[in-house]
Amino acid sequence: MELPSAAGAALTGGDDPQHPPAVRDDERAWRYAEVACGQCGAVVEVAKFSPQHSSIQWDAVAVLRCAEFSAAVADGRPSALIATCASLRSSIDAAVRDGRVEVLPP
Ligand SMILES: [Zn+2]
Repeated sequence: MELPSAAGAALTGGDDPQHPPAVRDDERAWRYAEVACGQCGAVVEVAKFSPQHSSIQWDAVAVLRCAEFSAAVADGRPSALIATCASLRSSIDAAVRDGRVEVLPP
């Protein structure tokens, strides 16, 4: 099976001087697309490996920004157990429908 490599190439923007050098030197990074929560505005990076399986990367800013998420963390629940807040989940679904997040099997 061949992996299409052109699909994600246009998404990489690591050399953009407008952005701080926070881009991780991770070869998987191109799979991730930024999605903002329609409710709280938290921005996370999302990759879809299948229609059922999302990988969501929260950074510290997003964790603080999402009320649902930070309430759970303040409660002592480990954040790794919380996939996403409910409104972010629907924002991600919309991004997938729009084609802003591609479904790419690993
Ligand atoms: Zn949220």
